[in-house]
Amino acid sequence: MENLEYKTKNAWLTLDKREVMDFGESYKQFISAYKTEREVVSFVRNEAEKLGFKDLFGDDYTGGDFFAVDDDKSIFVFKRGKKEISSGLNIVVAHIDSPRIDLKQNPLYEKFEIALLKTHYYGGIKKYQWATLPLALHGVVMLKNGEKLEFAIGEAPDDPVLIISDLLPHLGRKQIEKPAKNVIEGEALDPIIGTIPVEEEDKVNVKKAILSLLNERFGIVEEDFISSELTLVPAGGARDVGMDRGAITAYGHDDKICAYTAFRALTDSEIPEKSSLIMLMDKEEIGSEGTSGSQSEFLEYVIERYLKTNGLNNVSVRDVFFNSFALSADVNAAVDPLYPDVFEEQNSAKFGHGIVVTKFTGSGGKFGASDASAELVFAIRTLFNGKNIPWQIGELGKVDIGGGGTIAKYLAKRGIETIDVGPALLSMHAPYEIASKADLYASYLAYKAFLNSTLTLKK
Ligand code: MN
Ligand code: MN
Repeated sequence: MENLEYKTKNAWLTLDKREVMDFGESYKQFISAYKTEREVVSFVRNEAEKLGFKDLFGDDYTGGDFFAVDDDKSIFVFKRGKKEISSGLNIVVAHIDSPRIDLKQNPLYEKFEIALLKTHYYGGIKKYQWATLPLALHGVVMLKNGEKLEFAIGEAPDDPVLIISDLLPHLGRKQIEKPAKNVIEGEALDPIIGTIPVEEEDKVNVKKAILSLLNERFGIVEEDFISSELTLVPAGGARDVGMDRGAITAYGHDDKICAYTAFRALTDSEIPEKSSLIMLMDKEEIGSEGTSGSQSEFLEYVIERYLKTNGLNNVSVRDVFFNSFALSADVNAAVDPLYPDVFEEQNSAKFGHGIVVTKFTGSGGKFGASDASAELVFAIRTLFNGKNIPWQIGELGKVDIGGGGTIAKYLAKRGIETIDVGPALLSMHAPYEIASKADLYASYLAYKAFLNSTLTLKK
């Protein structure tokens, strides 16, 4: 008799455990090493170059496969299919920025003979999670002489780290009564950068000591901070979680888990029927704004450029968009056994049950959702079932309990058929997020299946 009920299965029961574990190892290396959008861009660019992709904006680009970099913060990778681009693209879009703590433009100060850095957090964080945590400083500084300095301190095992202090419980009676959003205030997210002073006539000066250290080591003067992008992220690499090593905890799964699996899916594939485009975007965590965010017209510029260079003068950018499909590859939330109350279980993603298809995001009456059509959900459902890919339907939390958005709507507004598809995490946006290795591998398989598909929408 036909199975009438919808039920999902734990993906560990159907996937090849060896393949899952091996893929997890390569992902751990990536996620441990590349923590900012600029670092991911340089990784992807190097890998793409090694594989023979050409810079779309380079002098030696004459057509075919390419990568295209925007502001060093977002990158596209394109693989030409057997069909011409006028029949549309299969696009996987992910974001490579993650919540973090940025330095202010004039950050350095000293108080009680301790030198600290003023910060302004980036994206949606629970501020209390970031205190008393070893932090690494990553970023770029445009020096006075025009030189661009790039560095990371705190990642090598013998590197020093920065750290934000917190009040001892003995003196924290008032603090602990505050709402969690105020336990650590935004202006109290300042990490310690130094404690050894230089001696002056009648006092000591730690700030001056740090300035001369920065100058000796990097050639930095204080004004250089103004033209810098320096960022604090959790120090150290990814770790396996559990005695069975079934999960990975790391900084920035959201959304580098999708960026990595999408890129691997594209580069591990043979020549697809339709052309593939991977878009790895910046600024999603602050609304996809700016020149490197998904609301910018870099996508239009890239397609125009491709059409021109490849002699496709009779094809318009809109011809391409309206024939294209996109997966908005972003993470969802898995039901947390410690906090089941915010989830409506029947429609929430389960950890380890494969990649999550999310028809709509948004909040409070689906506000701000892209909302993929039933026809598109049908096409994706049929594709994943046909390839035995572990997948599940998911919604972000109970009605009216909160919500969130993704890049999906910015592609959809261009006429591209778009749907959210990504793995579900525990502790999303925490300094260390948790992902299932089975869901990681299922995501890779899902993006690969999509990039090699020729979807049509049933009328
Ligand atoms: Mn995300
Ligand atoms: Mn996010």
